[in-house]
Amino acid sequence: MATGDFHLHSTCSDGVHTPTWVMETAAANGVSIVALTDHDTTAGLAEAKAATQSTGLRLISGIELSVELNGVEAHLLGFGFDIEHDPLQAYLSEQREGRVGRMKRMVRVLKEYGLAIKADRVLEIAGNASVGRPHVARALVESGYVTSVADAFDKWLGDGRPGHITRDRLTPEEAISLVHEAGGVVFVAHPLFLGENYEQSVATLATMGLDGMETYYKHYDEETVASHEALSKELGLARSGGSDYHGLGNPNDREIGDIPFGDMAIEEFVSFLEERKVHGLMQTGAQ
Ligand SMILES: [Zn+2]
Ligand SMILES: [Zn+2]
Repeated sequence: MATGDFHLHSTCSDGVHTPTWVMETAAANGVSIVALTDHDTTAGLAEAKAATQSTGLRLISGIELSVELNGVEAHLLGFGFDIEHDPLQAYLSEQREGRVGRMKRMVRVLKEYGLAIKADRVLEIAGNASVGRPHVARALVESGYVTSVADAFDKWLGDGRPGHITRDRLTPEEAISLVHEAGGVVFVAHPLFLGENYEQSVATLATMGLDGMETYYKHYDEETVASHEALSKELGLARSGGSDYHGLGNPNDREIGDIPFGDMAIEEFVSFLEERKVHGLMQTGAQ
């Protein structure tokens, strides 16, 4: 068993077990430092932190964010960020709100370009309609930033214009900067899932500010680990490891801590976090 596991899921996303159960089981398996990395939520971290009091585990704040890279879904792991950081939590609640959340993202992006309209006003304009770009356009007209709805689409909201947000998912750059601004670091999860050209995809993410790659993953064999180590060194990326534990019992699944992640590699990962002075909850429980 490895003594660290930095990719775990709980009932707060698509895992089977509660954060408390995951922490207690990690400790029972001989793991001493973990990150709980639920999909697009930090909701389990308070409970996980409380559970470290009785288990003596060291907990790092974590999350797994879905992003879109060249039309393919990629997963990025954030570690060691401040879970109360506003822009990060604002994005996560926007995700939960669906179309309304997407509109709020448009409003936020437009504000970055100096166009200050209010999300509440856009909702008023939409009334009972399902909120979308036409309502944002009318708010822009009302505020005098554009001359007409057509003008709003031409300049800001049409396909490919800066305020055009169709994706529910973040771009990798957005995700990386959200986590960086919250004081954390970003690793790409299970790089092999990026497909045949995963090496190229990781290289692209590296140019976008990625900090590391998940190199020691549940069922990876020695050869895969070696090729990931080589790629990470070539790209100047740090290395993390995790079981991606969901508790589902699928064929390739491993128990918490049952991963090809040696003590040296764990130490390197933890030193990397310390060097980067990650903000986040670096909690040492009662010994
Ligand atoms: Zn994933
Ligand atoms: Zn995962």
